[in-house]
Amino acid sequence: MSDSPKAEATPAAGTPATGTDFIRQIVAADLKNGKHQSVCTRFPPEPNGYLHIGHAKSICLNFGIAREFGGVCHLRFDDTNPVKEDIEYVESIQEDVRWLGFDWADKLFYASDYFDRLDEFAVELIQKGKAYVCHLTAEETRAYRGTLTEPGRNSPYRSRSIEENLEWFEKMRRGELEEGTCVLRAKIDMASPNINMRDPAVYRIKKAHHHRTGDKWCIYPMYDFAHGLSDAIEGITHSICTLEFEDHRPLYDWFLDQLDVPCHPQQIEFARLNLTYTVLSKRKLLELVRDGLVDGWDDPRMPTIAGYRRRGYTRESTRNFCDRIGVAKANSTVDVNMLEHCVREDLNKRVARVMAVLKPLRVVIDNYPDERVEEIEAINNPEDPSAGTRMVPFSKVLFIEQDDFRETPPPKYFRLSPGKEVRLRYAYFITCQRVVKDAQTGEVTEVHCTYDPATRGGNAPDGRKVKSTLHWVSAAHAAGAEVRLYDRLFAVEYPDREDDFRNALNPDSLEVLQGCKLEPSLAAAQPGDRFQFERRGYFCVDTKLSKLGAPVFNRIVGLKDTWAKIEKRGR
Ligand code: ATP
Ligand code: MG
Repeated sequence: MSDSPKAEATPAAGTPATGTDFIRQIVAADLKNGKHQSVCTRFPPEPNGYLHIGHAKSICLNFGIAREFGGVCHLRFDDTNPVKEDIEYVESIQEDVRWLGFDWADKLFYASDYFDRLDEFAVELIQKGKAYVCHLTAEETRAYRGTLTEPGRNSPYRSRSIEENLEWFEKMRRGELEEGTCVLRAKIDMASPNINMRDPAVYRIKKAHHHRTGDKWCIYPMYDFAHGLSDAIEGITHSICTLEFEDHRPLYDWFLDQLDVPCHPQQIEFARLNLTYTVLSKRKLLELVRDGLVDGWDDPRMPTIAGYRRRGYTRESTRNFCDRIGVAKANSTVDVNMLEHCVREDLNKRVARVMAVLKPLRVVIDNYPDERVEEIEAINNPEDPSAGTRMVPFSKVLFIEQDDFRETPPPKYFRLSPGKEVRLRYAYFITCQRVVKDAQTGEVTEVHCTYDPATRGGNAPDGRKVKSTLHWVSAAHAAGAEVRLYDRLFAVEYPDREDDFRNALNPDSLEVLQGCKLEPSLAAAQPGDRFQFERRGYFCVDTKLSKLGAPVFNRIVGLKDTWAKIEKRGR
């Protein structure tokens, strides 16, 4: 099972008809009472990093609502800060949205496309006496702004004439002034209890090259100004954003009220996704990438969509997770076990079981004929009978997992140990007779067993039972591979609460195993293919590191479902 990002331009049928969260209720009501004839949402990433699972929540919400209500959702790059933005991010974001199964059709926009119109809006604001050029230094501006408990003070530049302001703004635009020497500010209310309303900046000087507009501009609009106006220009009906913008809503509305805009979108805030054992902030993720603490944005340990995709998460499970967590108005943190549960649940239904030995130990079956090879039938997916069966070769020398053998077994160890009998999956019962050790290290290098030919298929005619079943691979037929075991990137539940989140990194988040032994069918595995390695977890052929004939497997997720247990306990 594999999937390319382009495989699903239009989403799969059967997208769950999501329940009615408070945003969908607003949208439904607006359509019913005629406030809107059709719905138009947007997903507005700033191209300053790769998208993470929090963005997936926002994408599923915005594109999901558009789809469910027969509307459209725009993809708009909020590219108003030329210093931090990059074309690599623009491309990765499009790939990620597409991979999730959403389609913006021809509705791909950039805030930078509106720079001329935004500039005109700024002039309109000045002409209406609602904006002024202010020369206070950053420090002075801060002092004048006041605090949560004290009102701010008016800037001495606040009472300038409209003509003067137009002239100064013109100078800013022409590059005649240095960065940081002045800004265009909205003239609102320095005594407002909402600090966002105390004459916020509208335009600043930035003599920086922009990845789309080049050197055309040396002034750039501030987010709050550009964002709402871009929404209005595009005819957005519902501008859905995260809770931290709640305090910005009065400003969002103020700009739209002052200016002659084609429409007035409604801003609606919802709680952002937080996830345990993870940070979801592009700034922090960028730090990990820049400092080489992970292997790029798509490192399979990263909570980015690109990382999850490379690790082997499916789009269906990612979307299912976003639907299940719901949309609420209060911030909370979701247990990462729930995400892993969604992944496991999806893979369990879909992927083939195979046998792979990650840490091999040689087993020689002394009473098995030297040259004999038997083809043994194995079930591909017990959850899906239509997946059929395959043949797996069995022979005298096999590999089992090192941890499936103990020379001196602790109590309740039911796997292989001297004198004990176990079942080899689909094959025979074997009994351990003796071990061979390395003369120097004393390490067990080979286990010698006998098999009972009457137990072929895994049952004894005399009815005797064994307490464990081991997976195995025939040594002569095994395919070799590297397998990468991933653990949580962070060792603590809430890395954001640490003084330095980097101190919370899990030093054991990656274990690379060389010389793993896989059943021969896996020699043909293609990048992106997923499997369940019996008793070991779900694995995916890495798309970057695999070479022809030398596959590298990523562990997608282990088999143990902590979330299912948590849910059970809850009931
Ligand atoms: P970050 O905090 O990671 O830098 P951001 O909000 O600055 O994210 P944007 O590119 O501005 O990143 O986000 C695009 C959209 O995704 C915004 O509408 C934002 O509200 C939403 N979004 C970002 N993070 C989350 C999250 N954790 N949960 C839900 N939505 C999110
Ligand atoms: Mg942002």
